[in-house]
Amino acid sequence: MPLWHLAVSALITIDNSSALISLLADFRKQNPDAKIGFVPTMGALHQGHISLITRAKKENQLVVCSIFVNPTQFNDPKDLERYPRTAEADAAMLSDNGCDIVYFPAVDDIYPNGLNEPFDMDFGGIDNVMEGAHRPGHFKGVAQVVDRFFRIVRPDRAYFGQKDFQQVAVIRQLVKEKKHAVEIIACPTLRSTQGLALSSRNMLLSEEEKENSLIIYKTLLSGQNWIKDNSDITELTEKLTVFFKKGNLHLEYLELANPENLQPVKNKNQPVHCFIAAFCGKVRLIDNMRLN
Ligand code: AMP
Repeated sequence: MPLWHLAVSALITIDNSSALISLLADFRKQNPDAKIGFVPTMGALHQGHISLITRAKKENQLVVCSIFVNPTQFNDPKDLERYPRTAEADAAMLSDNGCDIVYFPAVDDIYPNGLNEPFDMDFGGIDNVMEGAHRPGHFKGVAQVVDRFFRIVRPDRAYFGQKDFQQVAVIRQLVKEKKHAVEIIACPTLRSTQGLALSSRNMLLSEEEKENSLIIYKTLLSGQNWIKDNSDITELTEKLTVFFKKGNLHLEYLELANPENLQPVKNKNQPVHCFIAAFCGKVRLIDNMRLN
C-alpha cells in the first residue's frame, strides 16, 4: 500500500485551487511513481458517477473528484438555476466509494478573471453538430472548465462517461489542442434497471416522467433491431423519429452519426450511432447507443 494511503484514509475536502495544487505537489514528491486519476462532475452524484470513481480507483493510486456546476456551459440560465445540488450526500457517496480528494471550488476560484475571460480552441467541427448545434457555447464552456481543471490537478488519467458521447470527443480535442499530458478514459453508460440512462437531471423527474422517458431507451433499442433490415439510413431515421414521437417527450433531435467523427452517416457500411436529445417537461435528457 502506498505511504499516502497509510497516512490518509478519509476523504479530503478542498475548496480552493492553491491548496489543491500544493497538496498534489506534496503527494507527487512523496509518491513519484503514483498515478493520479481525475473525475470531473457537476455533483448530484449517482451510480453513473460512482462507476467512474470506481474505475479511477482501480487504475490509479490517488483519485480526485471535482464538483462544480459550471456556469459557462449552461446556455439556458433557468437550467443552471434548476440544476440539482446535493453537496452533503455527494461527499458521503465519494467517501463510501474510496475517493481520496473532493474539490468543491467556488466560481471565482475557477474563473478568477470573471466568466467572460476569453478561451480559444479549434474544435475541428465537432461543436457544429448535435449538442454543439443545439446548445450554443456549451462545449466552449465545457472545454474551458476542463482545461482549468487539468491545469490545477494535472491528472495522469481522466474519466468521462459515454452518456455524454460528444463531450468525450470535445475533451480529446482539448487534450490535443492544449497539449495536456493526460489519458482520456471513456466509460460505459449506467442505466436504471428499466433502461433510463442515469443522470443528475433525473432527480427533477416524477416517477411518471421517468416512465415516459423510457421512450428514449426503447427508441435506441429499436434502432439496434431495425438497422438489421434497413439499409436506407434516411428511412431508418424517419421510422425511429415516428416511433419516438408516439411517446410523451418533446424531441429536440434524433440523429444517426458516425461515432468516429460525429458526422451524419449515409449508409450502414460505416459504424452507426444513434443520438437523442429530448425534453421531458422542462428537463432536457440525452442518450446514445451504437446501432450496428
Ligand atoms: P455530470 O455531473 O453530468 O457533468 O457528469 C460527470 C461525468 O459523469 C461525465 O463524464 C458524465 O458523462 C458521467 N456520467 C453521467 N451520467 C453517467 C452515466 N449514467 N453512466 C456513466 N457515466 C455518466
